[in-house]
Amino acid sequence: MDHLYKRFDFRSDTVTVPTQEMREAMYKAEVGDDVLGEDPSIQHLEHLAAEKVGKEAALFVTSGTQGNLVAVLTHTKRGDEVLMESEAHIYYYEVGGIAALGGVIPRLIQGSAGVITPDALRTALREENIHFPTPSLLCIENSHNRAGGAIWTPEQIVAVAEVAKERGLHVHMDGARVFNAAIAQNCSVSELVASVDSVMFCLSKGLGAPVGSILAGNAELINRARKYRKMLGGGMRQAGVLAAAGIVALENMTERLADDHTLALKIGQALSNIETLSIDLDRLKTNIILVKVDPAWGTAEKLIQALEKEEILAGASGPQTVRFVTHKDVGELDAAKLIDTLKRIMEG
Ligand SMILES: *Cc1c(COP(=O)(O)O)cnc(C)c1O
Repeated sequence: MDHLYKRFDFRSDTVTVPTQEMREAMYKAEVGDDVLGEDPSIQHLEHLAAEKVGKEAALFVTSGTQGNLVAVLTHTKRGDEVLMESEAHIYYYEVGGIAALGGVIPRLIQGSAGVITPDALRTALREENIHFPTPSLLCIENSHNRAGGAIWTPEQIVAVAEVAKERGLHVHMDGARVFNAAIAQNCSVSELVASVDSVMFCLSKGLGAPVGSILAGNAELINRARKYRKMLGGGMRQAGVLAAAGIVALENMTERLADDHTLALKIGQALSNIETLSIDLDRLKTNIILVKVDPAWGTAEKLIQALEKEEILAGASGPQTVRFVTHKDVGELDAAKLIDTLKRIMEG
């Protein structure tokens, strides 16, 4: 039952399946109607999550996308400007929800490895003028998905948060993989999120839970967020069966993310020796490996198809960029098969 995953699936850490311990916890979970505030497992998860990230309160949401959208709705009003890095997941992969449903206008800031400098933010924040939308929120992403899992340090976060606060903006962190970001630099998640007003993180990626994400912040913010979650159809009834897996994820699955990073680096180093592939090893701090394919060899899509014939799954992150993600359901043997196969395909 624990082994339904495809063996060589490097597409994403979202493909992880729940552990035996999670399934047992789900089976035994005490539940109630969470919309009425009566699900003890959900309450336990929300308290534990808030404590883990050092915030007053937390809210269990259906997905990372819903968590980010609830956060934007809670922090802004229609017509506001929301600033974020130019390749932010919220901009790139969330179906334009903040515009369609929140009525806000995104303003993109070019970052470096996903990180925005305080100066770049200052420049983007124009002086008040009758022509301009009102900026009210800055979103930062840690680790940064499209930048190959690159990370923000606590100092970098404090520096942009200060600029945002001077100008009266709130700060939200899309921390889908914030536990990866923390363990990669030996700090706590609390340290990383101390200067942001809200943080979303996913239980369903590297942490291995089947469903769900968390939005955390102060109690007043989370009270309002709870109502927006209901508006978006995210009020779930006996969701304690899902929370039970989330509790196991938070208690037992955060430390092992370091293994995913070690394996990713090992793969990255091996692939950097293949002439038709290139990798920025300095950026490879977490579990996402971005590999550029030499156009003389072919495209990312061609490589993905060649791998698929060998039962290895990978994703494209651009026309010439293939993405491999390590997670709990791929190990040393899978990595060895990936490396050998790539050598054969690229050099053979
Ligand atoms: C995966 C991801 C999300 C969205 O999470 P879902 O649960 O897939 O909706 C948001 N932000 C980042 C950076 C992500 O990687």
